[in-house]
Amino acid sequence: MAQDPGQPIRPLGLTSAQFVEAARARGGSAFAARDEYKALFRDGVVPASWMTIANEADATSDARTSTNCEFTDYPVTATLVEGETSKFVLRLVDPGWNGLETESVLIPMPRASGTTTTLCVSSQIGCSMGCRFCETAQMGLLKNLRADQIVHQWWAGTHRVQRASGNAIKNIVFMGMGEPTDNIDEVIQAIRVLVDHDGAMVPASNISVSTVGNPDGIEKIGQLVRETGFHRLNLALSLNAPNDEIRSAIMPVNKAWPMARLKDALLAFPRFSKAAFCVEYVLIPGVNDADEHCDEVCAFLREIRCSLNVIPYNPRRNSPWPAPEESDVDRFVARAVTNGQFTKRRGTKGRNVMAACGQLGNEHIRNRRLMNEDGTSEPVKPGFVKLGLGNSGLGNSGLPVDPNANRNQA
Ligand code: SAH
Repeated sequence: MAQDPGQPIRPLGLTSAQFVEAARARGGSAFAARDEYKALFRDGVVPASWMTIANEADATSDARTSTNCEFTDYPVTATLVEGETSKFVLRLVDPGWNGLETESVLIPMPRASGTTTTLCVSSQIGCSMGCRFCETAQMGLLKNLRADQIVHQWWAGTHRVQRASGNAIKNIVFMGMGEPTDNIDEVIQAIRVLVDHDGAMVPASNISVSTVGNPDGIEKIGQLVRETGFHRLNLALSLNAPNDEIRSAIMPVNKAWPMARLKDALLAFPRFSKAAFCVEYVLIPGVNDADEHCDEVCAFLREIRCSLNVIPYNPRRNSPWPAPEESDVDRFVARAVTNGQFTKRRGTKGRNVMAACGQLGNEHIRNRRLMNEDGTSEPVKPGFVKLGLGNSGLGNSGLPVDPNANRNQA
């Protein structure tokens, strides 16, 4: 959402028009502001006068400039690489954020025309949805990210992490930590910023928002999609189960928003292009992977124009379930195809660096509390487990799929 006039201007949280307006309201020149905005987004250039000090202790109001523009160059505290997939961590040194960290993943997508890169961003630190299979859910929700902190993941990915590789970020998926519909206003503002023609210029058709299936959130995204320039924004739904009984057992949110409501929300969603919805299905052995489950899912999806994305489960810490066997994933996918459902499977990327779907959220983050199975929590001991290294052989990635590829395999 647009920033409050009393607040410092955070350029990464504003569209170019909002930024120019804010600068003008503070007596700045519109031309200079537009140039600065372009240089920031396109070239990664930060005017020296905007910089706050990238150290929490020093990030006082004195560090802000007379125009009250604030840019904190969040330190990239870790980059973990597995093959060509990398996870990077930004430390939010803003006052009051206590050094909490975002996690984002860069995934290369081989295409006929060359490799493109997809960025998976976090919309929250932690998550409150409680999905039983997800690592992030284990820590509960710590904080909603502001729009500028979401966009900062693209900015740092582009100008700090990825630049040297020469592969620009092409697609952005909201599939990192958090539930986008639980922080929907900031997520929508971040999308407005990311598509801005004077700035990041990411086409809406290259952005996907993935949700546990909050019908109100889906409706809000639908309202954005109705606006010119956003018609081709993609929606992805994490279905993960064939019926309400199984879904409620693994996704507590299903008790509030059962599958029939989800279907209604999807059927009411505006469709401006032929693009199909992406319906994600994390395949968990013994839970939702039987042939009958597959038939039930396909029957549920029959009226919805969608692509079913089968994601092999990546075991979280203390997981009660193993990763599925390859042969079971293949069997499930083949059966869905035979049922007439357009289906793809996701490949394996980033498992060893905890960069795969459902694996984000590192327990060394300051003040983080880990949730126990019984819902109690305990403080994390600093250095208890090093980022991503405490887990080994952790399943497969559910990371985003190149819509043009039949099968993505790391
Ligand atoms: N909250 C959003 C986005 C984050 S999760 C959502 O639920 O869609 C992104 C995707 O990863 C979702 O489809 C989710 O079902 C999947 N996922 C979560 N945990 C996983 C795990 N352990 N293994 C594989 N995929 C997982």
